[in-house]
Amino acid sequence: MTDTADLAAFRAEVRAFLAESLTPELARAGRRATSVFAHPDHSIAWQKILTAKGWGAIDWPVEYGGTGWSPMQKYIFSAECARAGAPNLLPQGLKMVAPVLMHYGSDEQKAFFLPRILSGEHYWCQGFSEPGSGSDLASLKLKAERDGDHYVLNGSKIWTTHAHFANWMFALVRTSNEGKPQAGISFVLIDMATPGLKVDPIISLAGEHELNQVFFDNVRVPVANRLGEENDGWSVAKYLLTFERGGRYAPGLFGQLAKLAEEAPEDPVLRERLRREAVTLEALEALELKSIGASGAKAALYASVLKVQGTEAAQRIDTLACEIAGLAGWAIADGQSPDLLATALPRYLNGRAATIYAGSNEIQRDLISRAVLG
Ligand SMILES: Cc1cc2nc3c(=O)[nH]c(=O)nc-3n(C[C@H](O)[C@H](O)[C@H](O)COP(=O)(O)OP(=O)(O)OC[C@H]3O[C@@H](n4cnc5c(N)ncnc54)[C@H](O)[C@@H]3O)c2cc1C
Repeated sequence: MTDTADLAAFRAEVRAFLAESLTPELARAGRRATSVFAHPDHSIAWQKILTAKGWGAIDWPVEYGGTGWSPMQKYIFSAECARAGAPNLLPQGLKMVAPVLMHYGSDEQKAFFLPRILSGEHYWCQGFSEPGSGSDLASLKLKAERDGDHYVLNGSKIWTTHAHFANWMFALVRTSNEGKPQAGISFVLIDMATPGLKVDPIISLAGEHELNQVFFDNVRVPVANRLGEENDGWSVAKYLLTFERGGRYAPGLFGQLAKLAEEAPEDPVLRERLRREAVTLEALEALELKSIGASGAKAALYASVLKVQGTEAAQRIDTLACEIAGLAGWAIADGQSPDLLATALPRYLNGRAATIYAGSNEIQRDLISRAVLG
């Protein structure tokens, strides 16, 4: 894809900003990241720098602090950030609960939460999955009983990414057992400091603490913290999942592939595989650009297709990185960057989860086949 003169000027502006504002510590943290979730020390620091520049929430409408950029400008921005090694921003606030707040939130909810997401003050986690309710999410049981102007929550959530850092959680809770399981779910916003809420770590295959199980023992949540109608949380969740699954995979993956190409030895077979992945990413990028502006069922379909393609490409690239790290032992002796050796294996292990979270790829294929084949 060739930039027009305007886009080339925009790209130059972004590069100049990154050269000036992405501190060496943050760039190093980005390079050393072993997960799509950066440590909050880095993601919040970067969020604050971007927000000060007015670029903290590029996908939001201008009235809430967005940039008003065109889809191509947003794409270029993401690609340049990935290229420079900027830490990923936390998606749970900016990309997941924020659009839901804009769509379903009251004026008070929007005024309270959106500026705090933008500033980095609120750090969110997602309380959807439960033990026994993952793919079959509608079977979730966490009980929310009405007591005056509060819900009283009892039960547990699991695989809650960064719950140990978060000060807010958006969650699906069961407010009714009548009718279809989908019809008795509500969507609530929970202050993590509420008494009765306990976060226990789950250590991953890579030995890292990213995941948690969260226990609720008579946790009181104001009814005012509900988004959407009582028992209509399933519609809210479906709206949110489109934002969780869709998005831009290719810019980050191109960045990773470019780094690998720099570090890989001049082995013709490896070079050929790197080029093949680059071609796959070009196809993914074309699909991502085509998906821009889609809405409703079409957007959901694109989101599923991009989730499958993006996460599987990421896993292939992680696999290649491990092989290159294995081959590159000789290069380290020449004083080359040890970042690859330090990150390839944990990244690979962490990345196994990408085809499971946000709805497993088997489930996405099922959704795609239903949408396309009926
Ligand atoms: C690293 C990581 C981070 C996560 N972060 C969060 C988070 O922050 N918040 C949150 O709420 N959840 C989170 N999750 C949970 C995630 O959404 C679930 O793991 C996922 O939905 C799968 O559910 P499950 O683990 O219960 O597996 P199951 O649903 O038990 O699935 C097991 C296997 O069976 C397959 N399967 C199940 N049903 C079908 C079907 N109908 N057709 C074909 N195949 C099927 C699945 O594809 C999978 O391979 C995270 C998970 C991981 C691994």
